[in-house]
Amino acid sequence: MATDFPLTRTTRPLPAPERARVLESPGFGRHFTDHMATATWTDGHGWHGHRVGPLEPFSLHPSAAVLHYAQEIFEGLKAYRHADGSVWLFRPEANARRFARSARRLALPELPEEDFLAGVEALVRADEPWVPVPRSEESLYVRPFMFASEAFLGVRPAAEVVFSVIAGPAGPYFANGLAGVTLWVSSTYSRAAKGGTGAAKCGGNYASGLAAQLEAREHGCDQVLYLDSAGGGFLEESGTMNLCLVTADGHLVTPPLGTILEGVTRDTILALAPECGLVPQERPVTIDELRAGAADGTVTEVFAAGTAAVVTPIVGFKGDGYAFTVGDGEPGKHTAALRSRVLDIQFGRAKDTHGWLHRVL
Ligand SMILES: *Cc1c(COP(=O)(O)O)cnc(C)c1O
Repeated sequence: MATDFPLTRTTRPLPAPERARVLESPGFGRHFTDHMATATWTDGHGWHGHRVGPLEPFSLHPSAAVLHYAQEIFEGLKAYRHADGSVWLFRPEANARRFARSARRLALPELPEEDFLAGVEALVRADEPWVPVPRSEESLYVRPFMFASEAFLGVRPAAEVVFSVIAGPAGPYFANGLAGVTLWVSSTYSRAAKGGTGAAKCGGNYASGLAAQLEAREHGCDQVLYLDSAGGGFLEESGTMNLCLVTADGHLVTPPLGTILEGVTRDTILALAPECGLVPQERPVTIDELRAGAADGTVTEVFAAGTAAVVTPIVGFKGDGYAFTVGDGEPGKHTAALRSRVLDIQFGRAKDTHGWLHRVL
């Protein structure tokens, strides 16, 4: 049985006309709903204080462990409004499972998966008016997270931890996402090493990637493509998205799990590939293979996959002393087909034959 997150409504919600204005053009990560879900864990007592209340700042002691030792994890998923007004989550159980795995890696207490779902659902219900009526692909982005709140300067797992869920309306993640983005192949930085935290969704992975992102910007690229840290030249992923290649002989190729983040979208794409006429294949790919394949036409398309950006075409790469485009530098047809297929299922326009949708309202 899941624990309830009883609702205390805010007395000061954003007035409806202002909310409507935000929903006109939500952007990404800029606007937040009226409520938040929280629960607290203390060593010896476990989880308690589950609630949904007004969105408000946390009060943290300056020695709170998360501020010093980055004991923190998060998730990202979306709520979609269908044409009949109903509201659905997409594979939230997968996020709940991954959240528990990330918690174990960061020595945080595990939140029971049903309580993760209960917290997410309670917040979406409380903030139902914030779920956009999609004009293209607008949705409500939901951000569950957990951090070490204990006031203590010492390196050990914290004895007090907060779980919370916030949400905000989201439009397309990249302004130029459909036209395709370019990736900077960093030879300075790597994202994860064997035995590290690459497979956990933790803030620290992002903090350590910011310098690489700046490097990408300096070279006129939108995002980073990380190679394996051991110097083998193997493609890993982009900072927030998994990488997929389409080959001329009809394969959908993606690097194997291990040091990369196990994306729900990646898994969805692997499952949908056969429906789009592609044979899914998880195998190591080197940057040299990608460069040669893009040059001789054996690699026809590249795209990135993640909840925020769905499926984003990658049209070009730059690295130290080289640059190349994929195909004709335009988004490919399989990329477009897979993108539509995922969105059609998420927005209820195509039959959910895999049982991925989870109704909230
Ligand atoms: C969240 C994330 C992804 C994408 O995962 P989804 O479950 O598809 O949203 C990919 N890479 C990294 C590093 C991530 O943090």
